[in-house]
Parts: sequence; structure tokens; C-alpha cells
Amino acid sequence: MHAEPRYHFASDNTSGICPEAWHALEEANAGYQPSYGADATTTRACERFREFFETDCEVFFVFNGTAANSLALASLCQSYHSVICSDLSHVETDECGAPEFFSNGSKLLTAKSQLGKLDPADVERLITHRTDLHYPRPRALSLSQSTELGTVYRPGEIAGLCELARKHGLHVHMDGARFFNALAGGTATPAEITWRAGVDVLCCGGTKLGMAVTEAVVFFDKALARDFEYRCKQAGQLCSKMRFISAQWLRILSNNVWHAHAARANSLARQMADNLGKIPGVQILHPVDANAVFARLPDKLKTGLKSRGWQFYSFIGGGSRLMCSWATTQADVDAFCTDARLEM
Ligand SMILES: *Cc1c(COP(=O)(O)O)cnc(C)c1O
Repeated sequence: MHAEPRYHFASDNTSGICPEAWHALEEANAGYQPSYGADATTTRACERFREFFETDCEVFFVFNGTAANSLALASLCQSYHSVICSDLSHVETDECGAPEFFSNGSKLLTAKSQLGKLDPADVERLITHRTDLHYPRPRALSLSQSTELGTVYRPGEIAGLCELARKHGLHVHMDGARFFNALAGGTATPAEITWRAGVDVLCCGGTKLGMAVTEAVVFFDKALARDFEYRCKQAGQLCSKMRFISAQWLRILSNNVWHAHAARANSLARQMADNLGKIPGVQILHPVDANAVFARLPDKLKTGLKSRGWQFYSFIGGGSRLMCSWATTQADVDAFCTDARLEM
């Protein structure tokens, strides 16, 4: 008999909206405000981003990560350019060609990765092995923080990749769908793992952190943000009732709300890995730097857990992926691990 589906660990976007974002939505619902971002809340939210990153950056809000990444990359490239990204990157594997579509044809070139992180030697090979005009000219480097395998680049690793990019005239894009989990998983400041390390544009994830339908595109190199609002509008990514998006950001970036949620998710993921790792036959595949656990589960265990209702993906990163979110509780982790022990 199959139990009710339990999506708790399938992804960090199977959870609901966190109470702070929900409350911000409720507050934003009162009365009338100018539309399309001309309201005072949006101005304050953008100002809050500048404080958070300790720099004068340009901030835009879109509805999802695919749009954020694609529009950001399109603003770095001409159609004859290429973007170097990891073979496991979301832009390559999970965006249905949107980066190529929105850039009118810029080609993604995939570099080898280790534990989800770009291999600098392979990046350099891709940049330098051809310089003739028959090859799409490398113009941007894209890296995900945290990575698709739940690992987190150290500030020095980011700086090294940015240095390499700069040496060859490439801009740097960071896919930060789980930026806050990465941030909470280390000790560096927001500035240190972005613009101080050399990142030009960050797609900063709101949805997986616990917000409703929003990602922020943050340009540290303001020249690259030119006309970006037109790209957003043309792509159908300009929210008319913008205050609902900006009110959430304002709230999440205040009083370390982002940190509380991201750090809890990370810590529950680590617990999950520790507990599962003790079960004979289970192998934890990658370091748990953020909120993802990748485990190789014996088939019997996988089937057993699924028949108990647990939903999780087994097609990403060579194992079964278990994601924790703001909504994950200690009881959820305990219940999953208890079921796993019972099934073995
Ligand atoms: C979830 C995710 C995104 C954004 O996906 P959308 O479904 O388009 O919001 C982007 N990058 C990574 C690494 C992700 O995990």
C-alpha cells in the first residue's frame, strides 16, 4: 500500500511561503501604490540590497530563476558569444535553452566540474583552445553558488575563477538560486563572495529561500545593467504590482531573516546526512555545505521509502537528492531517517 505523497525533501521549492514573506504580502496589500516598481517599498528594497552588499549595485526583480539567469546572461553577451558553465549547471541542464533564446543564440560551452564546481583548468582550455572566428567567442563565465550538488565555493575559489575570467575578458555571472544557503554555509560576507571576488552579476534566489515568486538580479557592474528593465519587460518579467515582491525582499533582508531560514535548512541537511550515513549500505556522495544531501541508497531502501510516501529525485547528481528548506522540521528529518532504518 502506498502512503500519501510526502514532498518534504523533493526540492526546496515544494515548501510554502515563509511567515515573514507571507506577512510582508499581507502588509503590502493595504491601499494603493504606484505600479511597475515606482512605489516607495521597491525603492527601499533596492536600497536594502545596496546595504546588504555594501556597494552601489543595480537591482531588478523577476519571477523566477530561469528568467533571471537568461536575461542576465543575455545582457553580458552578443549572439556570437559563448558562456562557459559547468556540465551540471542549471543553465545548461534545466532551462530549456532559455539562455540561448534570450541572448539570440549565445552558445553555452560546458566545462568539467568537480563536486559541482567549475574546473579552472578546463575553463581555461575552453577559453584558449580556439581563437579563430569560427568558434563562438567566450564572453561570460557562469557559476552556481551553492552548486547543483550542494557544495559551496570558498571565496578564494570564486576569486580564482573571476581572475581567470578577467584575464581573458569574460564577465562573471553567479546563479544564486541558493545564494543564501551558500552564504549561511560559510563565514564570508555577501560582498566577499560576490563583487569583491569579481562577480559582475548575481541572480539572487528568493523562491527557494521561502518567498513567493521572486528572484533578484543584482548588477555589481552597473554598466552591464544598461536597458535591463527593457529586457525584463519584453520577456514578460516586469511585475506590475511590484510592491508585493519588494515588500518580501525588504523583510527577508532585514533582521537576518534570510540567515535564520538558510542556516536552519543547512543544519537539518547536515543532520540528515549524518543520520543516513550511519545506515549500512547508504553512502553520502558529496560534502553537505548547504541544504542538499546527495545519497546513494540501495534500491530496496529507495523503493521502501517511496512506498512510505517520501518523494525525492534520483536523477540529479548520480544519487538521490534530499533538499531541506525553511519549512523542514526536526520531526521531518527524524521521521525520514527512522523510516530509512526500518526499511533496511
Ligand atoms: C531552482 C534553480 C534555479 C531556478 O529555477 P526556476 O524554476 O526557473 O525558478 C536556477 N538555478 C539553480 C541552480 C536552481 O536550483
